[in-house]
Amino acid sequence: MTRQMKFGSILLTGLMVGAFAGTAAAQAEDKLVVLCTPQEDWCVRMTDEFKAQTGIDTSYVRMSSGESLARLRAAAEDPEFDVWWGGPADGQIAAGIEGLVEPYISPNAAAISPEQKAEDGTWTGVYVGALGFCSNQAVLDELGLDVPTSWDDLLDPALAGNVAVAHPASSGTAYTTFYTQVLRLGSEDAAIDYMKQLNNNILQYTKSGSAPGAMAGRGEIAVAIIFSHDCIKNIEEGYSDLVVSFPSEGTGYEIGAEALVANAPHPNNAKTWIDWALLPETQEIGATVGSFQLPTNPDAAVSEYSVDLSQVNLIDYDFEAAGEARTELTQRFEDEVALPPAE
Ligand code: PLP
Repeated sequence: MTRQMKFGSILLTGLMVGAFAGTAAAQAEDKLVVLCTPQEDWCVRMTDEFKAQTGIDTSYVRMSSGESLARLRAAAEDPEFDVWWGGPADGQIAAGIEGLVEPYISPNAAAISPEQKAEDGTWTGVYVGALGFCSNQAVLDELGLDVPTSWDDLLDPALAGNVAVAHPASSGTAYTTFYTQVLRLGSEDAAIDYMKQLNNNILQYTKSGSAPGAMAGRGEIAVAIIFSHDCIKNIEEGYSDLVVSFPSEGTGYEIGAEALVANAPHPNNAKTWIDWALLPETQEIGATVGSFQLPTNPDAAVSEYSVDLSQVNLIDYDFEAAGEARTELTQRFEDEVALPPAE
């Protein structure tokens, strides 16, 4: 009943857009452009479904979290996107500090727990997932190594050239990895030191956070540091040598967030999207394309393939602090650890 009523209001919003189609202002609102950070197939399903349900001409551009931030910054005077959907919340928090996104409190955000949204509506959580290690068992066997269960295991010289992670300048996954070290080890300097040691074993920094999973799946490396749900997606897509493990001393996690772009060309449609993305039915779309993040709406069904976070040792991740430090810390990473990949 409640679900139908919520959907009813979404459909009504779509009809209202149509009803005003004769005015210039409403014509400008016929579109929605989504800055989409999760995996491409989820972006496609979400935008197709939104268009089908509302009649709004919806398009998207898929960009990693750090790239998204840079693109919003570059187009701040003449924004090209209406809503930023997905990617760890520290990206939206960093954007909020620069005035690149603006507060919107969706009525549907009432269903989301207070820890999974900003009180002022700067960002609202749409999914949750934990970082993990995604290892190729066959490659580990060849190297005579066990599946890693500690951050320190990744520093083993026997793994030289056999680890991959994305670069934090472009990727939210990689920034979560980096900031997890700050929180786990207690300081930015200690985190830089850890990442420098890890750098000795890195074959390649990728642009996109999930890309190392396929590298591990193909046997190009032994271990990828990615979100655990991305590894499960890789396994479900046929990379059967992959195994998921977690560092026993604690791992970081993300709250994937959405936010209204500041001075968006189509702000009403952006708000309709934000409302819609918080509905249980919408949050169940991810699992249909192998994206097994946990929904933030407690009424959404949880896939049997999703990781049970109560079984994982999660660190006490501070999203606000991570967001505030993001620009300066990624610069430190570039200066002191490794430059971003050229492509
Ligand atoms: N894809 C999935 C499935 C994710 O969970 C996330 C994190 O929110 C991302 C992509 C983020 O991408 P990137 O690390 O490339 O910024």
